[in-house]
Amino acid sequence: MTKHNGHCLCGKISFSFKGQPLRSTICHCSNCRNRTGSLFSAHIWFAADQLSIDWQECAQYSFETPAGRMMTNYFCRDCGTNLFFRTPLADPLVAVCAGTLIDANYWLSPGWELFCRNRPKFLSIDGTKQFETQPF
Ligand SMILES: [Zn+2]
Ligand SMILES: [Zn+2]
Repeated sequence: MTKHNGHCLCGKISFSFKGQPLRSTICHCSNCRNRTGSLFSAHIWFAADQLSIDWQECAQYSFETPAGRMMTNYFCRDCGTNLFFRTPLADPLVAVCAGTLIDANYWLSPGWELFCRNRPKFLSIDGTKQFETQPF
C-alpha cells in the first residue's frame, strides 16, 4: 500500500489516496516555476474524496494568476515542501505534487503538458499531449 501514499520532506504531513489518478499534468508556466522553485511542475490529479489529508496541517498561500484565476498552494510550514494545489477552475479536483509520492513512477504516466512555449530548450518529454498555453 505504500505506493498509495506520499509525504513532505520532514514527514510531518503525509497523505494517502484510493483509486486511480484522474489525470496528470506537467506545466512550464511562470507561476508553476515560482511556486515550486523548479523548472516545471508535475502533478497527478484526484477528486478530493479520493484523498485522505489533514488539511489543517497544511499552510496555504493563495494568489491570482495573470489570467485572473485563483490558486491555492498547500505546503508544510516546517519544511516548506509543496504538496497540493487547488483552483476553483478544477474543483473538486486536487493536484498532488508528483514529487511527494512515494512511488511517483508508478502513477505518473504522460498526460497534458502545458505552456510548452516556455519549455526549456534542452528539455524534451515524450508521450505528452502538448499545448502552447493551456486548453481551458
Ligand atoms: Zn514537512
Ligand atoms: Zn503552471
